[in-house]
Amino acid sequence: MHILVTNDDGVTAPGLLALAQEMRQLGKVTVFAPDRNWSASGHVKTLDRPLRVRETTLADGAAAFTSDGAPSDCVALALLGYIEKVDLVVSGINPYSNIGHDVTYSGTVTAAMEAVIADVAGIAFSLASQDKTSSSTTDFGPAAQVARAVVEKAIHNGLKKDVLLNVNIPYLKTEEIKGYHITRQGLRVYRDALDRRVDPHGRPYYWIGGEMPTGVDEPGTDFGALRAGYVSVTPLQLDLTHYKMVDELKKWNW
Ligand code: MN
Repeated sequence: MHILVTNDDGVTAPGLLALAQEMRQLGKVTVFAPDRNWSASGHVKTLDRPLRVRETTLADGAAAFTSDGAPSDCVALALLGYIEKVDLVVSGINPYSNIGHDVTYSGTVTAAMEAVIADVAGIAFSLASQDKTSSSTTDFGPAAQVARAVVEKAIHNGLKKDVLLNVNIPYLKTEEIKGYHITRQGLRVYRDALDRRVDPHGRPYYWIGGEMPTGVDEPGTDFGALRAGYVSVTPLQLDLTHYKMVDELKKWNW
């Protein structure tokens, strides 16, 4: 079992290290992650500039590859042949949850999507830590153990190649996590606010600011599971077709 470990927070992120260390218990691990933070970068394919790959070491001394590309570029580079054949791609552990509409923004999730595009199973892991200011003190230990348990189940049961798993883990102690809920995507509630400021030359500039997003607390959803203290496991596919609308559109006068 050859597991590719990546993330969107950059190769030095503590969540990546915690995930890589747990994955080493399950097989051969190659770490290939971006050289900077690509959070909320979406699904990227870099075609307008060359990509550089560099060897580096993680904080525990293990070898890793890093590149100036996006998370999905790192996965593409690895799966197109930079490293030997990969059986599974795992991404994370992101310090914040990726639920509902977040999956379209998330570099953590789109790295796993890139795996699916290359016909390799992908699993994304995110920790629902809302502690926005001090992710350096976030404890990824319990989440990394959950990640290992999820990957063990995926290896044991086999994961279809057209599916990725989006796993969100509540920020609780191991003994406080109630179990697993298989969920659907819920609804994110964004609280973005436009912050208009003025530069020293009198020209306006803008920040997309506001408060951390929340969500609609519904049973059966990713957000609902996290709220109730469960690990949320959502199977995702890249087919975004709205099937009901297909039939309705056919009734229009084309
Ligand atoms: Mn991130």
